[in-house]
Amino acid sequence: LDGRSRFCIFTEAMDDGLRRRHEIERDLRLALAAGDQFDVHYQPILDRDGSLFAAEALLRWPGAPGGPVPPELFIAVAEESGMIEELGLWVLREACAFAQQMALPKISVNVSAVQLRSVRFTADVLAVLEDTGLPPERLELELTERCALDSGAATHRNLKDLRAAGVMIALDDFATGHSLLQYVRDFDIDVIKIDQSFVSRLGSVDGTDQVVRALVDLGHAMGLEIIAEGVETEAQREALIGIGCHIFQGYLLGRPLSREAFRGAGFPQAGE
Ligand code: C2E
Ligand code: CA
Ligand code: CA
Ligand code: CA
Repeated sequence: LDGRSRFCIFTEAMDDGLRRRHEIERDLRLALAAGDQFDVHYQPILDRDGSLFAAEALLRWPGAPGGPVPPELFIAVAEESGMIEELGLWVLREACAFAQQMALPKISVNVSAVQLRSVRFTADVLAVLEDTGLPPERLELELTERCALDSGAATHRNLKDLRAAGVMIALDDFATGHSLLQYVRDFDIDVIKIDQSFVSRLGSVDGTDQVVRALVDLGHAMGLEIIAEGVETEAQREALIGIGCHIFQGYLLGRPLSREAFRGAGFPQAGE
């Protein structure tokens, strides 16, 4: 291949990607207008004795017209095209209602930076808590470090007000971004979630174990709760326990499940 033909292939691939995004945007708009097109799955987060610590709500779009679309993609499109606020609020409502109905110890809901920038966000969250009867302490909002990066006054205000109301704030994909200590301090974070890219490298010779141990020690020293994500093997779970991290999420503990399947699985709760 000479430079020119490679360039052609590259731009064609880009066009395809762009076209696909436009299709997704159109289909998302129709799906939102139709309602009942989305689903929320719940992935268990278990503590060391296998009791249910929390569940994470993960959005699904089962009937997407062009075939399955990964959440990362359609959520990015929803963020760019102004649909994430409506979609995010729907997820929140579903998840809080489910958590209350199931008496879950805690429910984690992912929040986009776009939602956090909205001056209505806190009021929306508090209205959902009020309507569903879920106590604020049992709601945990998961932010990615990306949220913190482009934070402005409205984001700060929302986080401050939500925390004052008793809602928990978690920093997702911990240690994949920069200046994490800064965020932990600025946003008064309660929980950090160690990203699966670290968990998957535990036991390798690249020093990952030492890095994760340092993060866990640091987190505990700062009074944070620490959850490891993407735990796929017993060896990883054991390595994490050895390192001092005792709360796990991942395929080893359970895949994201439909409402019915989650209910049917009957995860024991602490004290049961
Ligand atoms: P995330 O918040 O980091 O969620 C964890 C992702 O890892 C989920 O992917 C989950 O299915 C997957 N996962 C869980 N355990 C394992 C494991 O052991 N191994 C591997 N390889 N993967 C595992 P999913 O459901 O595809 O979601 C992808 C991302 O989409 C989420 O990453 C989150 O950033 C975003 N997302 C999902 N639902 C929502 C939502 O309602 N709102 C917003 N704003 N973002 C959402
Ligand atoms: Ca998350
Ligand atoms: Ca995560
Ligand atoms: Ca992730």
